[in-house]
Amino acid sequence: MSLGEEVADLVGQIRRQLINSQEIGLDAPFLSSNTRNYLRTGPQMDVAPSGEDFYGSSLKELEDFVGNCDRCKLSKERKNIVFGEGPSDARLVFVGEAPGMEEDVAGRPFVGRAGRLLTGIIKAMGLTREEVYICNIVKCRPPGNRDPERDEVVTCLPFLKAQISLIRPEIICALGRVPAQSLVDKDFRITRDRGQWHHFLGIALMPTYHPAYLLRYPQAKRQVWEDMQKIMKELRLKDPRESRD
Ligand code: SF4
Repeated sequence: MSLGEEVADLVGQIRRQLINSQEIGLDAPFLSSNTRNYLRTGPQMDVAPSGEDFYGSSLKELEDFVGNCDRCKLSKERKNIVFGEGPSDARLVFVGEAPGMEEDVAGRPFVGRAGRLLTGIIKAMGLTREEVYICNIVKCRPPGNRDPERDEVVTCLPFLKAQISLIRPEIICALGRVPAQSLVDKDFRITRDRGQWHHFLGIALMPTYHPAYLLRYPQAKRQVWEDMQKIMKELRLKDPRESRD
């Protein structure tokens, strides 16, 4: 039984016990009117529970919990929720900003040009895309590829926290300003603060430039590679290019 099921079972048992007590005239005087209503009607789920209320134990359960989410306004124009992909025991998690047009259509993260560049970076690190977990701060595409707004990030972030808590990677790599500001500090400046270790949920976090930025400014590739080498060192990965003779 998952933790969520255990909690639901426990709440159900307490509710039955209180109803039984009421039926034999033992109406507990300390109950609030909300609790009395709950006892009478049971749970009323007009609004989907927030990501903070997820108690499951697997990424699949979390994806089912997210469901056809309409908890924020990004649900209105998206085609697909881009939940994230990768193994549940990944050592490294990449967190981008938000799905773009191609990701929205495919329902998968980082499948466009920037995604192909990210795949190349992962390969250069001596890893494969299948070995890392890739996701975004928000799971639905902001219209016109604008930045996700504060309320959208606040609503969606608990899902990412649940993902990270389930995977417990050794390292998180935040790709670009929005993930760094969401996970580290709202005043984070990517040009000033990238390349330094931070922490999120007790896990080491390395912020670097987003691959889309590298498409516009290829000269920043050297800095990204320096940041990736720090991650490789922590993961004890050898630079595959060093063994090429
Ligand atoms: S961005 Fe997140 S919170 Fe908003 S609708 Fe999509 S999944 Fe739900």
